[in-house]
Amino acid sequence: MGLTGLDIFKHLPKTNCKVCGFPTCLAFAMALANGKASLDACPDVSDQAKEALSSAAAPPIRLVKVGAGENVIQMGDETEIFRHDKRFNHPTAVAIAVNDNEDVDAKVDSINGLVFDRVGQHYEVDMIALVNASGDAATFKAAAEKAAAKTNKNFVLITQDVGAMEAALQVLAARKPLLYAADKDNYEKMTELAKANGCPLAVKGENLDSLAELVEKIVALGYKELVLDSGARETSKVIADMTQFRRLAVKKKFRTFGYPAIAFTSKDDPQEEMLQAATYVAKYASLIVLKNAKKELLLPLVSLRANIYTDPQKPVAVEPGLHVLGDVNENSPVYCTTNFSLTYFLVEGEVAATRIPSYIISVDTGGISVLTAYADNKFTAEKIAKSIKDLEMEGKVNHKKIVIPGAVAVLKGKLEDESGWEVIVGPRESSGIQKFAKAQFA
Ligand code: SF4
Repeated sequence: MGLTGLDIFKHLPKTNCKVCGFPTCLAFAMALANGKASLDACPDVSDQAKEALSSAAAPPIRLVKVGAGENVIQMGDETEIFRHDKRFNHPTAVAIAVNDNEDVDAKVDSINGLVFDRVGQHYEVDMIALVNASGDAATFKAAAEKAAAKTNKNFVLITQDVGAMEAALQVLAARKPLLYAADKDNYEKMTELAKANGCPLAVKGENLDSLAELVEKIVALGYKELVLDSGARETSKVIADMTQFRRLAVKKKFRTFGYPAIAFTSKDDPQEEMLQAATYVAKYASLIVLKNAKKELLLPLVSLRANIYTDPQKPVAVEPGLHVLGDVNENSPVYCTTNFSLTYFLVEGEVAATRIPSYIISVDTGGISVLTAYADNKFTAEKIAKSIKDLEMEGKVNHKKIVIPGAVAVLKGKLEDESGWEVIVGPRESSGIQKFAKAQFA
């Protein structure tokens, strides 16, 4: 169990100097006890106090890394039960299972091909989960060799057979894969292997109690780079168990469950599988192993993940300024919108689809969307007029016409006065841009 705020307070300097960003040492101690502050924020804590407070200062869920060098996936280090309380930190990693007795080259090639670009972000499958489905160590090792040659992605090695794990590690140890899994029968040997190779180790229980017992035994052997699996595979049970991990770790500072969690999908139907995966992304998997992946189903999953792991206090913004689409000239249309990335990329996609080379001015609204920015006086006629001037649009086009979003048609008159440009009111929704452009500019 962690320390209480008052326990922590006893170790602080009690000068209330406010450098930590809190009004008093007591307030800082309370925040620390709730995992909402970092001990580093106080410059005056003595080394002795640091030592005493290290467990309270550690995140309730340990940061565990898979991979080596530049290619590392971080899992855990979460402090919240609900994202709106602060944020979730490390997006759920997605792994796709490859059985060692199937066509490994073809499956890894298809996984390598699952690449998405959406609203300015690039997404790929994070890991290959290599499964010792054959039950044979030599086959597992051969599959590891093939897969390693095909991809730079990180690996989860799935076998409870220590001999097979050792064989695959001869190929992949330097890439620091996640070893899945230590169970009640093999945990001593698996822990030894994980320690010797510096690899994280998944721990598989039969239920929460047996998992807790097993984790404590492995920690007693001196290893803490762990990932949790309660053994459940039925959707509601998996969610219940992962919720227990998160609640006990964050609320009760129960260190035994203070590790990231791995979840496996069990549904064969691809749509049902993605629904199952989506619930695990929401609560609270750090890594999901999928059986199959269809590109059209994986995209909504990674989009959901991006939504959940976006910091709710920071709007997702694009660089404000001038964006040039295609081979523009002095007759090219000029559109304007905000720099909220979702709005911007929707507009950009639709303008690009018109195939008419165009300019888009993204006005700095602090990353908020058109109507919200308008309501908050961040998307005003003055601001748009200033952008037109600052970006020297008069030197770039000879028509002095600008398209504004239909939702802020009300800005037309004032913007014409402010800028001297003719304002064309565009469609209310970006989906109307192609039809609009055809009528206006084709
Ligand atoms: Fe107290 Fe340290 Fe915060 Fe100053 S920086 S108020 S000494 S906890």
